[in-house]
Amino acid sequence: MNSYKDPENKIEIKQKITTLQNLKEIVDYANELYPSWIISYVNRYSYDYPHLESNWDYICKQNKTKRGQIVIVDNIFEGDEYSILKIFINIFILSGFIVRSKDEIYVCEKCNSAIPNKETFEKMKDSNIEMKIKEWNNKCSSCL
Ligand SMILES: [Zn+2]
Repeated sequence: MNSYKDPENKIEIKQKITTLQNLKEIVDYANELYPSWIISYVNRYSYDYPHLESNWDYICKQNKTKRGQIVIVDNIFEGDEYSILKIFINIFILSGFIVRSKDEIYVCEKCNSAIPNKETFEKMKDSNIEMKIKEWNNKCSSCL
């Protein structure tokens, strides 16, 4: 059993989404359908990860939108049975937001910026992606 799968009235829900006027109405509707999905919002990535920040700026430029926030959600599911959640995620991205699951992101307790998990850090390190730190930590180097 999984409460994030598309409900039986998914066609009705998709129609309703097309009538929503702005991002606030979208967020409210997402919260109404899946109350536990959106956990929190973070304004930026940690200064230790300039690549993630510039990537985000690039995506916003491509989508001709201003930067929003990083939306931390309970989980990001793959598969056709999660098509409603996928619609919400796409709307967020097109609105300048980034959507990440709570397992992917730590929030620095001192400055409230987003830090990718250790697994992502190691992958970025292996790919020689620019980072200001050599070892992973759940706080920014400037916040230690
Ligand atoms: Zn910090």
